[in-house]
Amino acid sequence: MNGGTRESVLWYDGTQASAGEVAPSSRLDPHRPSLAPILARMTGDAAVWVDAGWDHILLEADRRLAAIDPDYEVHQVKEKYGGLRYYCSLDRHPEGYRVIAEAELEAARSCERCGEPGEIDRQTPYIRTLCPAHREEHHFDQQVCQRLRTR
Ligand SMILES: [Zn+2]
Repeated sequence: MNGGTRESVLWYDGTQASAGEVAPSSRLDPHRPSLAPILARMTGDAAVWVDAGWDHILLEADRRLAAIDPDYEVHQVKEKYGGLRYYCSLDRHPEGYRVIAEAELEAARSCERCGEPGEIDRQTPYIRTLCPAHREEHHFDQQVCQRLRTR
């Protein structure tokens, strides 16, 4: 330490990092227009808490679920421990359950950020499913988070 000045810390994308901030590689838009068909089925705070790499999986699941029941409702869509969770009014319907299970399986081998082949990464506290390039970015930003917490 020299006179209390702190070195600047940068995220993987080169932008200035500050404590308590969500890393750029972990930011997502839970209300993005690409997911309008799913958001329209939610009540209350309609939000989809997964990154855009899984959009095509979600939209395909929605299309198939809507074929079972055009008025089905979506309760919650999120990523948890690197996996897709899709809760809706059809998750106990035999065919609906299968559609969701297939979507979760597809998500488990697709990068959350870009949709390219990926796998689950448990090497950081924030577990995600990522391709090699996005895994590198995620690890870097998680190390930055760690440095910001401990300095
Ligand atoms: Zn990726």
